[in-house]
Amino acid sequence: MTETLAGGILEGTPVVGGLAYGPAIWPGERPDHDPDALGANTELPEDQREPEVARFVAAAGTVAGRLRDRSSHSSGAAAEVLAATAGLAEDRGWIGAASGLIRKGSPAPAAAAAATEQFATMFTKLGGLMAERVTDLNDVRDRVLAELLGLPEPGVPEPIEPSVLLADDLAPADTAGLDPATTVALVTRLGGPTSHTAIIARQLGIPCVVAVSDLTTVPAGTPVLIDGTLGTITIGPDEATARAQVDASRRRAEAVAAWHGPGRTADGHEVSVLANVADGASARTATGYPVEGIGLFRTELAFLDRPDEPTVDEQAGIYREVLEAFPGQKVVVRTLDAGSDKPLKFVNHKDEANPALGVRGDRIAVENPEIRAHQLDAIARAAAETGSTPWVMAPMIASAREAAAFAQEVRARGMTAGVMVEIPAVAILAPLILAEVDFVSIGTNDLTQYTMAADRMSADLASLTDPWQPAVLKLIAEVASAGQTLGKPVGVCGEAAADPNLACVLTGLGVTSLSSAPVAAAGVGARLAEVTLDACREAATAALATADPAGARQAATSVLDAAATPLSPAV
Ligand code: PEP
Ligand code: MG
Repeated sequence: MTETLAGGILEGTPVVGGLAYGPAIWPGERPDHDPDALGANTELPEDQREPEVARFVAAAGTVAGRLRDRSSHSSGAAAEVLAATAGLAEDRGWIGAASGLIRKGSPAPAAAAAATEQFATMFTKLGGLMAERVTDLNDVRDRVLAELLGLPEPGVPEPIEPSVLLADDLAPADTAGLDPATTVALVTRLGGPTSHTAIIARQLGIPCVVAVSDLTTVPAGTPVLIDGTLGTITIGPDEATARAQVDASRRRAEAVAAWHGPGRTADGHEVSVLANVADGASARTATGYPVEGIGLFRTELAFLDRPDEPTVDEQAGIYREVLEAFPGQKVVVRTLDAGSDKPLKFVNHKDEANPALGVRGDRIAVENPEIRAHQLDAIARAAAETGSTPWVMAPMIASAREAAAFAQEVRARGMTAGVMVEIPAVAILAPLILAEVDFVSIGTNDLTQYTMAADRMSADLASLTDPWQPAVLKLIAEVASAGQTLGKPVGVCGEAAADPNLACVLTGLGVTSLSSAPVAAAGVGARLAEVTLDACREAATAALATADPAGARQAATSVLDAAATPLSPAV
């Protein structure tokens, strides 16, 4: 390891947010993999081969047994990963491959290493989740090698003070059973957001950063500050400042955890904090979060694998489940947003060169009016059966005429009608659109995609599809102001509503409800509760005056930080 200068910052992929500070620790040495040291060039005499197979099988069995024992003393994801690693140690294919090599004369350590290499190459070729299992396989190999060579079991040391565990990659058997009181963060040189390290860090609730390429420059014992939200590792920071930052972040997490709603600013301005759901199960899960209802029920997600159109009865059953999860509360049901990234088999989409700009969302009703009619019948039936009054909105509306036609169909069934604002044309003509409906909900995911002409699925264009784009904020401002003039609700139901500071900006622009993944609700609600409506308005003005998303984010955040009265964790 080479020395990294104090104060230097390494960067990786952020996986679990939060701050942590402590000395770095590295896992214990792994056995030497040098083929010579493992006996790759030695040939066993015939009569020693079967006993060597037995010795190998016994070592693998011992390792599997230990892992299984630890699994039975753990719970949740830790127990599952330990059991899965034990399964690898007993895998018939792997044991068979190594035994075959031993029977050809290879000593057990060399055979175990060679068999692992074969499987690792195969897993790497398969890619994705299989490739991420290579770490588990190598971990099993090292444990079996240590057993065969009479070495101590490799793995993570027990820290004697709160420490940050650094590693090349962490195998499940290393991370399972970690105590978050002494291992306060995980950082790996390899791994991805779905690696076992990430899963375990999430379960333990400790900050985690992966894919930090220069990590080996940090020697054991070096104090480090981990920011799991930004994905940074600060080497040897000023201790008092680092500890103060960690304390503040812990108090903030406690305040967020203690926030139970309803959504309102510090001076009592109400903003509903709502959940996005996909079906009855996710609606029931959402009831476990501090949300006041559902701001977006993406109905198409309930039918992605359906070859035929579900009957009105069947649809009504699914919608009923969602309405029953939030009795007497607001539920906004969106009609099928079929097409583009969410094609539905029963809609018979034509091949299109550019499906995001094609026949998607409400546009399918032009050729298939009966699909929309059946769905509205089913929503009305579910509403009647549950005594609910859902709001119903259409996706991908582009004109006042489309909005009026949809509203007429919804109102004919006695329900409240709205449309999504996802297409810039609708934001530009917001007063005319709002005149036709009872409410609108801004889908910032698509509104940003269409405003910036940047595919929302493209990783390369992520800086363009940032919802903090001032151009997008300007369009939202137009819509919210039209809503205020006409006295009609304007919600936001794209992922922008999940960002606490952006949620304050949206509130300052005049947005009346914020709906996103329910897990984001407490962070959004707690931030709103710290600032006044005036501070939100000031933050919005500051963001609108900038030329790019980074500027907007920074301008709004500094206004909000200066104005915030931090919640006490006891709130
Ligand atoms: C949006 O576009 O912001 C939205 C909420 O709809 P979806 O993400 O389902 O396209
Ligand atoms: Mg959309």
